[in-house]
Amino acid sequence: MSSNNDDVIFIEEPEISFTQCEDTSLVWFVLIVDDDKDVHSATEYALKDLAILGRGVRFLNAYSINECTTVLQDHPDVAVILLDVVMETQDAGLTLIDMIRRELNLHLPRIILRTGQPGYAPELDAIRDYDINDYLTKNELTRKKLFTAVLTAIRAYDQLQRMEASRLGLEQIVRGSSELIAVSGLQAFASGVIRQLAVFVNTEPEGLLCAQADFDLDQQISSEYLIIAAAGHYQALVQRRLDEITDVQIYTSFQRCFNTREHVFENNHLVLYFEMRNKRHFAVYIKTNKLPSVINRDLLHAFCANVSICADNINLINELRESAYVDKLVGLPKRTAFIDAINQHFADGTASAFSVILIDVDQFAEINNAFGHQYGDQLLKSIAHRFEQGLGQESFIARIAGDSFGVLGKTTDINSERIRRIMERPFHIDGMEHVIPFSTGTVRLRDSAVDGQSVLKDASIARKLAKQSGINSDAIYNLNVSKKAKEQTHLLRELQSAFEQGHLFPMYQPQVNMNTGQILGFEALMRWQTVSGEFISPLQFIGLAEQSGLIVNMGAWMLRSAMIFMCQLKAEGLPGDKMSVNVSAVQFRRPDFLSHLCKLLDEIGLHPKYLELEITESIAMMEHGNIETTLSKLQGLGINIAIDDFGTGFSSLSYLDRLPINRIKIDRSFVNSMMLKKGGMRITELVIQLGHSLGMRIIAEGVEDEKQARCLLNMGCQEAQGFLYARPMVGDDLKKWLRNYSSVR
Ligand code: C2E
Ligand code: MG
Ligand code: MG
Repeated sequence: MSSNNDDVIFIEEPEISFTQCEDTSLVWFVLIVDDDKDVHSATEYALKDLAILGRGVRFLNAYSINECTTVLQDHPDVAVILLDVVMETQDAGLTLIDMIRRELNLHLPRIILRTGQPGYAPELDAIRDYDINDYLTKNELTRKKLFTAVLTAIRAYDQLQRMEASRLGLEQIVRGSSELIAVSGLQAFASGVIRQLAVFVNTEPEGLLCAQADFDLDQQISSEYLIIAAAGHYQALVQRRLDEITDVQIYTSFQRCFNTREHVFENNHLVLYFEMRNKRHFAVYIKTNKLPSVINRDLLHAFCANVSICADNINLINELRESAYVDKLVGLPKRTAFIDAINQHFADGTASAFSVILIDVDQFAEINNAFGHQYGDQLLKSIAHRFEQGLGQESFIARIAGDSFGVLGKTTDINSERIRRIMERPFHIDGMEHVIPFSTGTVRLRDSAVDGQSVLKDASIARKLAKQSGINSDAIYNLNVSKKAKEQTHLLRELQSAFEQGHLFPMYQPQVNMNTGQILGFEALMRWQTVSGEFISPLQFIGLAEQSGLIVNMGAWMLRSAMIFMCQLKAEGLPGDKMSVNVSAVQFRRPDFLSHLCKLLDEIGLHPKYLELEITESIAMMEHGNIETTLSKLQGLGINIAIDDFGTGFSSLSYLDRLPINRIKIDRSFVNSMMLKKGGMRITELVIQLGHSLGMRIIAEGVEDEKQARCLLNMGCQEAQGFLYARPMVGDDLKKWLRNYSSVR
């Protein structure tokens, strides 16, 4: 060996032992690239018999750039490249590195640069940019140094390779899991697991998935095991019980896996164990000769844990799917299923012959509050049952939301009258009998949009309009309805600006004692006169104001105006001791309602005894823990509480006993029906007696003629409000009327 700089010189003998490699099939490939043949043989000689991490070294040789690239194409798994910087050109080595990293895209092989000419040392930049492991000048290259450099490089390569395998494994886990998550149904999931596992252990998909018999049903753990899915030539075993399997090896391996609750690794197969929530489990048998070695077992564990989570999710997804479709309480399909059913008609071109009816129980919240949720649930079940019986198979019935149901059927078969006939008989629940008021909104699919969601929207527009015209109403969606809905939006905007610009004003209607003619008080009623001079009834705009929340400010303003006016009446010595103001539920529900009222009384200086609040039955039945407290506090201040429109709501008379109420206002409809309907008289009389027995005062609303007045007087009702005595008047007119009234009496 010459001592020329270009030669590899082994100055010292290394004090290291070269052990014989045990596994000749696994070797580290070391590629020597040098245009000098001697360098090849010297290097091979120096490193022969070397064993690193239990593997020997196999040398590959290249003498030029071209040869090197050819070798690497065949052997991308080269661990170390010992590379001469100067070959056919001064920087051939550097050019080659660029090619290896960029063009061949090989990032794992470690590169050790060698040069005999220190002047051609690569720039530091090149060492960093090309990920060069080591740089040695040939004259400092002892055998020990070469060994150390190669050893370090192989270790680094091994680490990188493991990391790469882990990265690929993790990628595989993520990819596999997302595929498994996406499948629907147990069968697809189970086959997916076998396929993914086969990919993972790098083998053909030959395997079985075995699980407890009721894998996807309920939480019961069964002792019976079934083959849920199979791949490859095990196909015929699907749906067979585990103990029916004649292949002893498969049977015992599965048994062992389930008993030990651990993976089983055998020579020609593995059985992987998967544990789910609720201690349920399943296992996958994969036939393979390649036991996981490269892909380490940790990764396999991680993969299996992930698959278990997917399996849990599959159950969850099934449950979710189910719960999105079927209403557990009433056992009817849900909104999503209803929309799908409508869409189906659009899809197969049958839509034009079909209609949708949306049915909403009126005042369901009040029913719930009065009789309890259990009663409410029972009622919903009974309604569902009645629809199912009454509409039979030809219609699709669903529970759309809390108290609303949807019916999809042929336009010739279903209409609101039919629904009314089905619902009109009283419902018997808990020994009680109730007639349930409800509103409907009907849409003929031919008049509506082209998808289920919009149809439902149109139906609810129609139903909303029905509700606005009172309980027990029906409306059919058509262009007029949608026009009307638009008008409502427009009206709301106008109302808002009318309120802001002071175009709302109060009117007052006197309340009298029919017997003595004495003026008892007044009810304050809101009025709206538009810029064009038109009067809009509160029946049209109070509902809108309530829906939009505008009622809160409007109500507060009414309260203030009425209180100020009452102060004036008292200051002027005019008769009447009560100013009744209507309070909407939306207003009453506000937590600051009471404090706001106290502030007003204080500010205006009105004695609370002159004030009466008219609340509706829906307020009385509100599930408002402190409704009783609030009413008691109001009463404690001296304010009167009256129940307005008594008898029109869903009456649970229980609240009358419970709540502090001073007065009942019998609704105009009862007063009207006294003379018209058979039994009308009887109901009015009952209400009067009931009120009296509870120590309440009774006032009749809407008394229009003498006959009604006499009748009421005979029944013991002395107080009245109605056109017979006076219409609502603006403040100044009322004052005149009062002066006049006193003088004629
Ligand atoms: P209500 O509280 O039951 O008021 C009585 C309604 O009956 C008033 O209608 C009144 O003008 C009318 N009326 C009185 N006597 C007779 C009669 O002999 N015959 C007939 N046909 N009608 C009579 P109005 O003013 O149109 O008010 C309708 C409803 O609007 C009120 O019914 C009340 O619920 C609501 N409302 C009115 N003002 C307000 C308010 O300031 N706040 C709230 N929240 N609601 C109000
Ligand atoms: Mg009223
Ligand atoms: Mg009323």
